[in-house]
Amino acid sequence: MTLRFHAVSKANSHVVSDYKKPDARPEEFFGCNVFDLPKMKQFLSKEAYAAVVTARESGGRINLDMADDIARGMKNWAVSLGVSHYAHWFQPLTGATAEKHDTFLDWDFDDKKFIEKFSGTLLVQQEPDASSFPSGGIRSTFEARGYTAWDPASPAFVMESTLCIPSVFISYTGESLDYKAPLLKANAFLDKAATAVCKYFDKNVKRVTSTLGWEQEYFLVDAALYDICPDLILTGRTLLGHSAAKDQQLEDHYFGSIPERVAAYIQELEVEAYKLGIPAKTRHNEVAPNQFEIAPIFEEVDIAVDHNILIMDLMRRLARKHNFAVLMHEKPFAGINGSGKHNNWSLATDTGVNLLQPGKNPQSNLQFVAILVNVLKAVHDNADILLGSIASTGNEHRLGGNEAPPAILSVFLGSYLTDLLEQIEEKGMADANVGKEEIKKLTLDIERIPELILHNTDRNRTSPFAFTGNKFEFRAVGSAANCALGMIVLNTAMAKQLVKFKEDVDALIDAGTAKQDALFQVILRYTVESKAIRFDGNGYSTEWQEEAAKRGLPNATSAPQAWKAFVTEKSHKLFVDNSIFSERELDARYEVSLEGYIKKIKIEANVLQDLAANFIVPTAIKYQNVLLDNVKGITQFLGDEAAAPVLNILRSTSAHIAGIQSASKKLSEACALADAKGELAETAAMYASEVRALFDVIRGHSDELEMVVDNELWPLPKYRELLFIR
Ligand code: ADP
Ligand code: MG
Repeated sequence: MTLRFHAVSKANSHVVSDYKKPDARPEEFFGCNVFDLPKMKQFLSKEAYAAVVTARESGGRINLDMADDIARGMKNWAVSLGVSHYAHWFQPLTGATAEKHDTFLDWDFDDKKFIEKFSGTLLVQQEPDASSFPSGGIRSTFEARGYTAWDPASPAFVMESTLCIPSVFISYTGESLDYKAPLLKANAFLDKAATAVCKYFDKNVKRVTSTLGWEQEYFLVDAALYDICPDLILTGRTLLGHSAAKDQQLEDHYFGSIPERVAAYIQELEVEAYKLGIPAKTRHNEVAPNQFEIAPIFEEVDIAVDHNILIMDLMRRLARKHNFAVLMHEKPFAGINGSGKHNNWSLATDTGVNLLQPGKNPQSNLQFVAILVNVLKAVHDNADILLGSIASTGNEHRLGGNEAPPAILSVFLGSYLTDLLEQIEEKGMADANVGKEEIKKLTLDIERIPELILHNTDRNRTSPFAFTGNKFEFRAVGSAANCALGMIVLNTAMAKQLVKFKEDVDALIDAGTAKQDALFQVILRYTVESKAIRFDGNGYSTEWQEEAAKRGLPNATSAPQAWKAFVTEKSHKLFVDNSIFSERELDARYEVSLEGYIKKIKIEANVLQDLAANFIVPTAIKYQNVLLDNVKGITQFLGDEAAAPVLNILRSTSAHIAGIQSASKKLSEACALADAKGELAETAAMYASEVRALFDVIRGHSDELEMVVDNELWPLPKYRELLFIR
């Protein structure tokens, strides 16, 4: 029996895990492992508590004495949960999270014994030997160390018996080496710009935050099958595998009842998420078999980003307990849907207004339209950089690949708002300085926006950036990604746009235009200028690709090409001029992305060659021997003609073996040629095209062989097994 049949039988024997639901209600244990405000109140002095609250709300600094106080309280809380270690928890550019654990135990020189302690210095700053994290040349080895610094805005938590302290990761020369620091900068920039604009409408607004509710898609595969798939283990996706006769054609999985074993996994995941203060809300089956989604209630963007990577970590940890492996890759299976991370995004004021929610009165509707049009303009003007922010080795298969929607950014608004903007546009086209009459009519149009547009917004699943009634849904983000980068770009672009809006409106007001008219005129202008980004049709159609090209919208066909947008003059104007990234940080990130891309594809190439040479070809040869014996026998007893059908199978098997061998040789040569290029960008471009193209050739032959070779001999789990056993 092949390993595959052992694995299938083991997988079939897996039963619902004996996970025991907690007796308490979620509201009783929600956040029990988080050092949140109520626990701070209990474990910190009044002054220390006030210092953390101020730091959270207005970014105030915490001095070292105070930090000592906070550290002591934090440790006492952690110890009360039986915790012995602490770690700065941060998000390096690897895309994963990192943590280095230390124990609280320390030598006490006064009492000459070991005691558990935790000081402010240790809380505030750590120096992990970080020389192995990617830094794109920023941290050359002679200045080897970077440091992590506590981010008081994000609460500490306990996971796996360790006190985790959310931190930013910075090089000794001050450059950020993570996603957190630039995200916080982008948020501050957006807060300032948006608050200033909100004051046109409501003088009481003091703070604007961006909100994020992510929807995380993923696949579950039985652990026994996963463990015998070198491609899944090493690359996160299947490099070989013929499609199953039935997969998602009938769409019978979408929103269907959740399989029992999966339900147990999700229940435990939710309980653990609640303990960490992650407000998981929705769970359902996705379109592809064995594909699922989990989504929380939205939160402020930086907290939501932390919670997303935290839950991804939890998902991986818990999957094993339920005999599953979780696949976060954007395209684990060819030919069926991939996984994304829909980033639902909006802006909220401290006065409790969602700025993308149509209002109850004309004034708030004018504010809504102003913000909406600024989003359109920001996305229009920065479409290339937004595409760069979601590009990755895995997402390339989901966007821009041969069986995926194109990597073109467009915005879906739905018919109601499209009609409204068309009317606005007509007036805007007529004259840049619209007359009083026009403005009066326009006011009426805007006044009429129904508050409950939410229910009027039609759904368009093909749009990468869709308005869904009271928020935008940025759907192009990859399932494995840290959502921070997309949010950094979106928030920075939006902030810059709002600064410009304020300048433009103020210029008109200074020249004597009434405020209301000035707002209208700028809204009109932006509506016209951003028109090209609006598209409500089918984003997957070929007509759209042609149309988008005519409109001059960027279409990034590979990740390396998309990332170029980060190292242009325009990107410098956006990020460097607004102190989100320095030029050096942008260059470094570009380099890290290209290096990672090359490494990942090289790993895929090696795994594919290994699978072809050590799994597929030997299996095909074994089958050839069976066929040969058969042909010999038939020829001997029945003659040449009778042996012809089997000879045909033999010939085609040989042809596929030859095809695999020659493509595999070419693959080695293509990798060598690509590596020999002097420039990282050129090497990456060759990996994107020449190297990847050969994957398809090898896969083509192998998948054909899978259809020819005796099922009993086939060594790797088939798609039907990976997708339907649960
Ligand atoms: P869908 O119909 O797309 O499933 P839902 O209403 O279920 O929409 O919301 C999807 C996600 O959007 C959830 O995570 C939800 O919390 C989030 N969301 C809702 N309102 C906002 C908002 N104002 N800002 C950010 N995210 C939001
Ligand atoms: Mg949604």
